[in-house]
Amino acid sequence: MTRILVIGAGLGGLTLAHALVRAGLDVRVFEADDGTGERTQGYRIGLSPVAMEALRASLPPRLYDLAEATSGSLTGPGLLFDEQLTLLSSDLPGPEESRAFDRQVLRQVLLGELGDRVSFGKRVKTFTDEDTVTAFFADGTQATGDVLVGADGGSSAVRRRLVPEVRLVDADLCGAMGRTPATDRFRRLVPGRGTMVKGPEITLMLGRMQFDREPSEAAAELTPGLPMPHRESYVRWVLLVPPDHPAATAPPREEARELVLELIEGWHSELRDLVRGADLSAVGRSKVFDRPMPPWPVSRVTLLGDAAHLTLASGGNGAATAMQDAVRLSALLAEVDQGRHDLLPALAEYQRDLLDRGNAAVEVGKRALSRFIPAGGDAR
Ligand SMILES: Cc1cc2nc3c(=O)[nH]c(=O)nc-3n(C[C@H](O)[C@H](O)[C@H](O)COP(=O)(O)OP(=O)(O)OC[C@H]3O[C@@H](n4cnc5c(N)ncnc54)[C@H](O)[C@@H]3O)c2cc1C
Repeated sequence: MTRILVIGAGLGGLTLAHALVRAGLDVRVFEADDGTGERTQGYRIGLSPVAMEALRASLPPRLYDLAEATSGSLTGPGLLFDEQLTLLSSDLPGPEESRAFDRQVLRQVLLGELGDRVSFGKRVKTFTDEDTVTAFFADGTQATGDVLVGADGGSSAVRRRLVPEVRLVDADLCGAMGRTPATDRFRRLVPGRGTMVKGPEITLMLGRMQFDREPSEAAAELTPGLPMPHRESYVRWVLLVPPDHPAATAPPREEARELVLELIEGWHSELRDLVRGADLSAVGRSKVFDRPMPPWPVSRVTLLGDAAHLTLASGGNGAATAMQDAVRLSALLAEVDQGRHDLLPALAEYQRDLLDRGNAAVEVGKRALSRFIPAGGDAR
């Protein structure tokens, strides 16, 4: 049986693991973090119809049902307001998303039923690639398999070895993020799939995370025994901070809140209260690759997701693209396992597909950014 080592238990790596298990392959996932709650990459994530299809194709039906039950609707108009909450448009274009997920809840769903196939605290340092592949971890241990998949995110150690010429650069895009309980007054600000507030030079984006069912209750009923955090519905907001503003230098959270409130001084009190009442995530600067991802010599080592195509968060398509990679790669590896395809030609076919899809997704992300910051930097 083909043995697959997946580096990284993020949204793409875990989707791949499920798809491989479903296809009957031997898969092990190695995650650098010690657990799932360690970092935030934003609270909420919107998944497009293709991502939902990829999840349906990969997850055991019970987990897919749990994913659906713990997500929320993204239908309804996209609204555009000015900073005094004067409605400018109720027809705001946005990415094609069909369901909203809390990122941590989705990650818990994806960890379901994988059991000890996933190991935490395993940061890959390097690997060898000969007749088999061996991954070497920071804790001194190692693992050997037939294929190694770098699903280790935008700053991928696997990509740095495979394609060292690609470098991460600052995208000059900085956002402060928060989530505020979805009380009626704040829920009214986001009746549909998203709301944008454009003030002079500053853009605030609001998204609702209205759980169809409270996640821990849904998990207790649909997948008893699966750990799941308790979560109340919330409004997620992202304030794009000018990259040269003091708030963009990742100050401690409480200081960040004051700096963010300074940026929206004079804005409608509803918006200031939304920020004041938030659980504020650290301010983050976006990174991008310095060039389109080039091909690399085909071997037993390949890439998936952000490791191969780092899209801007504004594109709203990074996870969807990673999940499509997972479906494609698992299908090809299943054919190899069944003796219907040779390994290296299958990985060459996957790489071509990955680069086409990934580089196109990165362009979509860049174009989406112009909705928030038109050329010239004036956000109005
Ligand atoms: C603020 C924000 C909002 C976003 N919103 C959306 C959205 O609405 N819709 C959407 O489709 N996409 C969105 N994205 C993009 C999406 O989050 C990513 O594209 C997606 O998470 C990529 O999945 P991945 O598995 O490739 O990487 P990740 O989910 O980043 O997972 C990589 C994993 O690898 C682990 N890792 C890293 N290095 C090592 C190592 N050396 N050894 C072992 N493990 C390692 C990491 O700890 C991590 O768990 C957003 C991104 C951000 C930052």
